[in-house]
Amino acid sequence: MRTQVCIIGGGPSGLLLSQLLHRKGIDTVVLERKTRDYVLSRIRAGILEVGFVDLMRAAGVSERMDRESFAHDGTVIACNDEQFRISFREHTGTDVVVYGQTELTRDLYDAREAADGKVIFNVENVVINEVETDAPYVTFDVHGKQERIDCDFVAGCDGFHGVSRQTIPLSVRREYEKVYPFGWLGILSETPPVHEELIYSCSDRGFALCSMRNANLSRYYIQCSLSDSPDDWSDENFWEELKRRIPSAAAESLVTGPSIEKSIAPLRSFVTEPMRWGRLFLCGDAAHIVPPTGAKGLNTAASDIHYLYHGLLQFYEEKDSEGIDRYSEKALARIWKAERFSWSTTNLLHRYPDMSEFDLKMQLADIAFLRDNEAAQKVFAQNYVGLPY
Ligand SMILES: Cc1cc2nc3c(=O)[nH]c(=O)nc-3n(C[C@H](O)[C@H](O)[C@H](O)COP(=O)(O)OP(=O)(O)OC[C@H]3O[C@@H](n4cnc5c(N)ncnc54)[C@H](O)[C@@H]3O)c2cc1C
Repeated sequence: MRTQVCIIGGGPSGLLLSQLLHRKGIDTVVLERKTRDYVLSRIRAGILEVGFVDLMRAAGVSERMDRESFAHDGTVIACNDEQFRISFREHTGTDVVVYGQTELTRDLYDAREAADGKVIFNVENVVINEVETDAPYVTFDVHGKQERIDCDFVAGCDGFHGVSRQTIPLSVRREYEKVYPFGWLGILSETPPVHEELIYSCSDRGFALCSMRNANLSRYYIQCSLSDSPDDWSDENFWEELKRRIPSAAAESLVTGPSIEKSIAPLRSFVTEPMRWGRLFLCGDAAHIVPPTGAKGLNTAASDIHYLYHGLLQFYEEKDSEGIDRYSEKALARIWKAERFSWSTTNLLHRYPDMSEFDLKMQLADIAFLRDNEAAQKVFAQNYVGLPY
């Protein structure tokens, strides 16, 4: 089999790249380790920066998103029983869009299917070969048979546990990591959201986030211990703990119900450099991870796709390799800023097990500064809605 760009991973990064390139007549094959249903069962991100929304439009897959998503022009920050709002629109002139990762991934799969795009599911033993040459190829097993795809480029969109990053030799690869001493316990429930905007809440008992997917689907999180398991938390205990961590007015109006999904995500900051090795390009979670506090995970994946898509267009349409040659540099410049925002927002709002009295006072002073200072709110808003590509 031959294609122009072999994409490893059928998550949002890989599908978006495949669909964008298809619209420009560039052929791709997507290799996915799981089934479509499995990928669509993963409940993850829900806040899209305007850059992501523009890419979905460029990919021709925005129809349902434009109809069903809704805009948020601000967010609420709470600290124990006090709260204040940061307006995105006032400080940046733009909003963020609420549309679940599951939904946009479904839209991308539907679009690839409608265009007869080649997505091969249930692949095993993917090996990326000869990316230092002009003739890379990928081998994999499917239905018990080994297959080979020859290609011009390989896009490694296979998430944190994929093979693409591991293909870059350790002598070339440098990794930067911070593992946080807590996780997020999240539940999804078919209940109306407690508030029309997200509430990020710092409390003496730890962090909580009130979020949503639509008018009758809410996503709530509480900071938890890394040793906790979702089975340790009954729905009732979750709701009680959430109520203790959010302002009392929100706690009183919270509508509770059975969870339809419950999971724990450990928090990690991670970046690998470089994001290009020969003809292999890493995109999204394959190259970097952020703690979800600033809603940047999926959005950083989108900015990688933006840089790679334009680099590949420049290569195929103008015979100019500048875009792909500078892919790693351009992508990383933006990634590190998103890493900084996600790390600082995590520090601002979470309780660390080893915090001293002094650390606690500093945290409260940081939150008060953000509450009282226009410039600080503007900086927060600029980062939250997404830095320019
Ligand atoms: C539990 C959880 C909660 C999250 N919540 C948020 C949130 O609230 N907000 C936010 O912004 N971000 C969140 N994120 C991050 C966000 O979901 C990711 O940044 C986003 O999924 C990245 O997309 P991706 O396509 O790069 O990687 P993935 O979505 O991980 O997709 C990679 C794909 O590659 C496939 N794959 C892996 N290995 C191979 C292989 N060897 N061969 C072929 N295919 C392979 C995988 O099956 C997967 O389908 C969360 C992540 C997790 C794990």
